[in-house]
Amino acid sequence: MAETRSTCPYCGVGCGVIIESEGAQISGVRGDPDHPANFGRLCTKGSTLHLTATPEVLQTRRLLTPQWRPQRGGAMQPLGWSDATARIADKLDAIRAEHGPDAIAFYISGQLLTEDYHAFNKLARGLVGTNNIDSNSRLCMSSAVVGYKQSLGADAPPCSYEDLNHADCVFITGANPAWAHPVLFRRLEDARAARPDMKLVVVDPRRTESAEFADLHLQIAPGTDVALCLGMLHACIWEEWLDRDFIAAHTEGFAALKDLVRGMPPREAARICGIALDDLMQAAQWFARSPATLSLYCQGLNQSSSGTAKNTALINLHLATGQIGRAGAGPFSLTGQPNAMGGREAGGMATLLPGHRDPGSAAHRDEIARLWGVPALPETPGKTAVELFEAAARGEIKALWIACTNPAQSMPDQALVRRALERCELVILQEAFADTATAAYADLLLPAATWGEKEGTVTNSERRISRVRAAVPPPGQARPDWQIVCDVAQQLEARWRPGQPSLFAHTGSEALWLEHREATRGRDLDISGLSYALLDAQGPQQWPFPEGATKGTARLYQDGHFATANGRARFIAKPYQPAADKPDARYPLVLNTGRMRDQWHGMSRSGVVGRLFSHEGTPALRMSPQDLPRRGLSDGDLVRVRSRRGELVLPLLADEGIKPAQAYVAMHWGQEFVSGRSAQGQALLGINAATQSAYCPDSKQPELKFSSVSVERL
Ligand code: SF4
Repeated sequence: MAETRSTCPYCGVGCGVIIESEGAQISGVRGDPDHPANFGRLCTKGSTLHLTATPEVLQTRRLLTPQWRPQRGGAMQPLGWSDATARIADKLDAIRAEHGPDAIAFYISGQLLTEDYHAFNKLARGLVGTNNIDSNSRLCMSSAVVGYKQSLGADAPPCSYEDLNHADCVFITGANPAWAHPVLFRRLEDARAARPDMKLVVVDPRRTESAEFADLHLQIAPGTDVALCLGMLHACIWEEWLDRDFIAAHTEGFAALKDLVRGMPPREAARICGIALDDLMQAAQWFARSPATLSLYCQGLNQSSSGTAKNTALINLHLATGQIGRAGAGPFSLTGQPNAMGGREAGGMATLLPGHRDPGSAAHRDEIARLWGVPALPETPGKTAVELFEAAARGEIKALWIACTNPAQSMPDQALVRRALERCELVILQEAFADTATAAYADLLLPAATWGEKEGTVTNSERRISRVRAAVPPPGQARPDWQIVCDVAQQLEARWRPGQPSLFAHTGSEALWLEHREATRGRDLDISGLSYALLDAQGPQQWPFPEGATKGTARLYQDGHFATANGRARFIAKPYQPAADKPDARYPLVLNTGRMRDQWHGMSRSGVVGRLFSHEGTPALRMSPQDLPRRGLSDGDLVRVRSRRGELVLPLLADEGIKPAQAYVAMHWGQEFVSGRSAQGQALLGINAATQSAYCPDSKQPELKFSSVSVERL
């Protein structure tokens, strides 16, 4: 039996795994005791990873050969790699010649490795000439990116997991790490057991497993997080719980924020949030007066039409109380996906360039063009996820290349997404699994290697870069994602840059990573001191790790100097705004979505493991037991959930953890489990038939966690 050290491909905790293999077959997995994210622990998803690579899964669920669909609606036919890449290159060439480069778009994934991100980004921006490249990370953490940049000057989570051991108050808001980041939550449990005086506050509209563990649960009304933070800040000002020395020495903009906060006294904030005033005051006191306060946050803040405002409102609290840049203190955004951070670093999103650069900056575009050896990068702003599908639905985007993600299940407002996929002239899907909902819309299917079969790197929530390693070769004709990109790119170069040396002649993932590394040199995330060899010899490392450094950086801003032009952090004064999809008499309930403990995203990987359904085996709409009799409903009914965009049919479950006038459903359920259709009657699949695509104006992250719905017995 061989053993290969790698990283779990599920969540942003980024646990180290040891893959056991016999020949070309993965046979087992266990936690890596030397990995600093998990020290040998794995959750149920991680510990069953080998069951996603059984011979049966390889034969029945994996995409093993390139395929094309001669006619829309017809069957797929296999073809060879060279035919597939030539066909793609011919079609992209024709579309670009007729409609220009912005008629081509790429929709990629936080599941990809940093090297894959780099290859896609260079293809889109450096060769095709479009900024139309966005990622499913737009649905996950783009509000956190913009929040950090606006407040602290750079997209850099300042904390480490190790800060849990030093925090006196942990403030979890818009997150349920007990289920969504289980190994990190175990570290929190250990830290609290070691330091029983630690205060734990959980802010969540639901009484989650994380909330059960808290000293104080603020069960706020959905979407009212900004009001809560403004009210807490008002309390801190009134009670003199501020760190005025820190504000004076290291920040700017407090006067404007104070004016805004004046209009949100704690009593009013408590009324808007639907919580007790005393609870709000207690949370504010613990947050401000504890020697060190660490906040953990995720989709509850990010997936919102006020996503950036929610992020900056929380960071305002940290800055006003000096709870940042010290052991155990700081605003710590948790990433959902295993490599959302790597995608941010490589600039694999419409609003980013490599090395935390800005596509709106001519100087930044020039720097990357020089590094890549291309004349210039495109100037026209790229379309973000929802904008991209809207443009495709209008017929402006003709070719859409999707990699390692399943937008026909995971994007909000599925009616829009399906119109977009049908209207495109060319849909390319690069995937490991053959039967995702998006595959039905693909003209070309490209088999991709996946976990256990490919080499590269990922970055977890605490800025820690880990190696991902191949334990076995990819099955069938599957190839690493970066290699597929380079193969097509070289076909395009033959048409667009004949006779010139190839920019995509990479023979391994490390060559791509070294190009990416150069883009970070001198930037806030500088990793010029790292190499594959160092990561192999010394294990995962946190950035920044500049040339000459001997170790990574556990905590940022300890000197009080922030990444802004003048070194001062900024208070951002954004008012509370109600969510976009307002409840009314027809749609009186607010539908929230979230994660289950044992499933991941659209279940294309976790759904192949029978054991993972033993925790929750079927979808259900959860509502407060108080709501049922007055709406003529009973526990166990089959109900129709209607939103302004579509409807779902689900069994109903009474849940004491849900407040009246709210409903909740897990996000993972797709075509095999949920019957959904659009408001126009088109059959749609999965939970997102009902969710909405309104998005935050700054981050463009859609509001997946707030949809107004009605519920009726079938
Ligand atoms: Fe994998 Fe996340 Fe579980 Fe760790 S906590 S084993 S990274 S799913």
